[in-house]
Amino acid sequence: MKPWCWYCNRDFDDEKILIQHQKAKHFKCHICHKKLYTGPGLAIHCMQVHKETIDSVPNAIPGRTDIELEIYGMEGIPEKDMQERRRTLEQKSQESQKRKNQDDSDEDDDDDEPGPSAQVAVQPQAGYAAALTQPGIPVAGAPGLPPGGYQGMPPMMPGFLQ
Ligand SMILES: [Zn+2]
Ligand SMILES: [Zn+2]
Repeated sequence: MKPWCWYCNRDFDDEKILIQHQKAKHFKCHICHKKLYTGPGLAIHCMQVHKETIDSVPNAIPGRTDIELEIYGMEGIPEKDMQERRRTLEQKSQESQKRKNQDDSDEDDDDDEPGPSAQVAVQPQAGYAAALTQPGIPVAGAPGLPPGGYQGMPPMMPGFLQ
């Protein structure tokens, strides 16, 4: 929530500026112009230094003049006033962003194009044909006769030579 002054309902960009504003506008002694930090601080100052009783916060809007409330910047603001402030801000932002909200917050899932998952229907058929085209196992290297080997002729007897 943006800093705002409870006493006069003004908006501020920075809480430091808000505090300076409160000290200058709402917590300043009207007699010696000393800047105090809170309403009660101002009341005590005026009572002790000037013997004067302060019964309302200077420059405050009607209903926000309670000198007893210890408000410093955004601290100490009564909860009901914080809630009221939040409601007011929400109404303001809803009015200014009404068109924008209608465009993108209500229909988050409304896509123009179908998602990529819509057309994934490919049949798995790979590896099927490869098994059918397997040729018969060729008989390689038949067990043929050993080369040479048995001659069929008995060795000649030496006696037959002459
Ligand atoms: Zn103010
Ligand atoms: Zn004073």
